Amino acid sequence: MTIETFVADRLAALKADGNYRVFADLERHRGAFPAATRRAAEQAAEVTVWCSNDYLGMGQHPDVLAAMHAALDRSGAGAGGTRNISGTAHEHVLLERELADLHGKEAALLFTSGYVSNWAALGTLGAMIPDCLILSDALNHASMIEGIRHSRAERLIWKHNDLADLEARLAAQPLERPKLIAFESVYSMDGDIAPIAGICDLADRYNAMTYLDEVHAVGLYGPRGGGIAERDGLMNRLTVIEGTLGKAFGVVGGYIAASANICDFIRSFASGFIFTTALPPHVAAGAAASIRHLKASRTERVQQRARVAQVRARFDQIGLPHLPNPSHIIPLMVGDPVKCKFISDTLLDEHGIYIQPINHPTVPKGTERLRITPSPVHGDADIARLCDALEHLWCQCQLARRPMAAQ
Ligand SMILES: *Cc1c(COP(=O)(O)O)cnc(C)c1O
Repeated sequence: MTIETFVADRLAALKADGNYRVFADLERHRGAFPAATRRAAEQAAEVTVWCSNDYLGMGQHPDVLAAMHAALDRSGAGAGGTRNISGTAHEHVLLERELADLHGKEAALLFTSGYVSNWAALGTLGAMIPDCLILSDALNHASMIEGIRHSRAERLIWKHNDLADLEARLAAQPLERPKLIAFESVYSMDGDIAPIAGICDLADRYNAMTYLDEVHAVGLYGPRGGGIAERDGLMNRLTVIEGTLGKAFGVVGGYIAASANICDFIRSFASGFIFTTALPPHVAAGAAASIRHLKASRTERVQQRARVAQVRARFDQIGLPHLPNPSHIIPLMVGDPVKCKFISDTLLDEHGIYIQPINHPTVPKGTERLRITPSPVHGDADIARLCDALEHLWCQCQLARRPMAAQ
């Protein structure tokens, strides 16, 4: 067996399982997003994107683009080094200040992505704190799981969002043992939200630290876009808050916000922070502009909520089974991998609507779904076209509908 035959066999097996992923090759249109041109082979077609994590359209906001153009003209393309060796630009320093302020923490530390921030921060804390136990929610993101694994700390998985299960596991440990509870606020596949206050109460009672991934909440919740912890007045109770600059903020990058000492510690010991080129200065400037805008403006958040409510109401009218949840994410449940992919392909090819199918292993078998993320940039006509196309395909696939107007 050669490497070529090995990889070809594995890819064939992946395709046979229906788990092979194909990219949609898109050209987003600044100023007109969610409109994009999709390129496939020799052809090009106009599509409307309904599954973007650029939740508020900040990736085309004039303030963000102006800040990026200005920084590019001022400082050039790349940072030119790691943060330690000539790569710290003033834009990074300003962005870290902006982030610390957003979360009401003493300090913040930038990484090249949210994935890297989870991997590096959890990896470093778990590895360096003697005898640290990490209690990880069962549905945590791959980046947290990889960070915890990399740390080689002992790990306990607690039932998703289940305070009783978490408490039982905490109570079984010596009070003085260092413990870290790792969890998310908004879970991106079901759109459910963690009981953060209850988790913080348990952390206090059982002497544990808390690490909260707010990736799907920053920019979107709280009076200044600080996330669910800001909305619920809990930011000061969390040891570490982690977020991304690549979703609602519309740019790219990741960060943690915490005490000055914790940020300094991770800055000093995390390989994934130290040994990689810093974000380009214009990226940092764009992210800072986006955060600043969303601290002051509620308009985008209010519009997004209205669009989400509008899509849900229309789905209820036509009986489409969307999972109820308190967030901005609408999981439309198909429950069959072949039909899920068929609906997604047909939406794209015949209706110019792009929604990536979510199949196993991302979600459990039998819960295959279309994950829909309405945003302020979707208009009434976009919503009407989406709902008409889905209604048609639901009939064609003979999928069950919910009784009209059922909740
Ligand atoms: C997307 C995501 C990340 C990673 O963030 P990136 O900036 O995209 O690398 C981390 N945690 C969760 C829960 C995510 O969904």
